[in-house]
Amino acid sequence: MSTENNSELLFDNSVRILKDLIAFKTISGQDNSSLIDYCDEILKKLGATSFRTYDNEKKRVNLFATLKAKNSKTKKPIILSGHTDVVPVSKGWCTDPFTATVKGDKLYGRGACDMKGFIACALAYAPIYSKSNLDRDIHFSFTFDEETACQGAPILIEELKKRDIKDGICIIGEPTNMKIIDAHKGCYEYTTYFKGLAGHSSAPHKGVSAVEYASKYVNKLIELREKLKSRAPKDSIFDPPYSTLSIGGVFGGIAHNVIADKCHVNWETRPVVKEDGVFLNQEIDKYANEVLLPEMKKVFSNASIEKDIIGEIVGFDRVNKSEACELISSLTGDNSRQVVSFGTEAGLFQEIGISTVVCGPGSIDQAHKIDEFIILDELKKCLNLLDGIKVESVPN
Ligand SMILES: [Zn+2]
Repeated sequence: MSTENNSELLFDNSVRILKDLIAFKTISGQDNSSLIDYCDEILKKLGATSFRTYDNEKKRVNLFATLKAKNSKTKKPIILSGHTDVVPVSKGWCTDPFTATVKGDKLYGRGACDMKGFIACALAYAPIYSKSNLDRDIHFSFTFDEETACQGAPILIEELKKRDIKDGICIIGEPTNMKIIDAHKGCYEYTTYFKGLAGHSSAPHKGVSAVEYASKYVNKLIELREKLKSRAPKDSIFDPPYSTLSIGGVFGGIAHNVIADKCHVNWETRPVVKEDGVFLNQEIDKYANEVLLPEMKKVFSNASIEKDIIGEIVGFDRVNKSEACELISSLTGDNSRQVVSFGTEAGLFQEIGISTVVCGPGSIDQAHKIDEFIILDELKKCLNLLDGIKVESVPN
């Protein structure tokens, strides 16, 4: 940044914008369009072009905006990417979670670090990009419902493919204390619904207990979990090194003496390689359709087992020579490469050929918690990175 004054102004702007962003109650699953309008307006005033993609009800919105290269487009585009949703708040906050509050060196509020801090920095820096003699496009990608198994991003990615935006460098600004994250496991979430036939418990043979079939299903999943362990890749970079599986809940039944006609199972798996996800789904679907369902139908022809995909966040794979990681390393001096246990949208961008890195301000330790905060200095570090990107995005 050219002068000390400018950088102070820039920082103040990022804090102001972050306060505005936190005031939008963009809890996952809810309408985020006012926040998107706010971002779109800032960028449009700077001359950006943009398009939106939506969920089925047109209630939740992804925004993709572009500050175009000025003359020749000689370098690959850069995508600054963040999710606009936040996780719900529980009781016990010291401040109003949707009124950003600065205390000492921290700013408190839901989304402060995960991840409105990054979005605020990108928007605060945008006026400088717009005034620069850019020799590459700078894109801003703001998605909905990342926290609920990345429901928004795949819709945006489909549109990027259609528009032939399949090349470039993407920075996902999830809170990493500005460290480089270059891999994480996938995260697939499912709910499986069992429909049986209710009846009196004294005559179990005349009903179909959804709860009992759900139990068998759960047992099969636990059996498959052991198989996943034996499939761990030898060079796995993850801890634990194999794909995991967990049963989050089993819900069904109304009384001791009633055969339950409904039951559902919430479960998830975190594959280290895509093939494990495919394997697991094939095995459990086969068991449900070829073993359990025929048994259920012998008594009740309308019995059913239905598996709902809540979300399938693809894994983010480490690559040897990552343009995105090398760019960040050259700008921040951080040469480390780390893996994390949380999922992000990174794998989705990577899948269409965009070199991707996860790197952003704030710490994941404060994410999803009561009294979420970001240390203000992290915003300064992020603005410095964005400044470095500007230097890399103008002719030498
Ligand atoms: Zn996040």
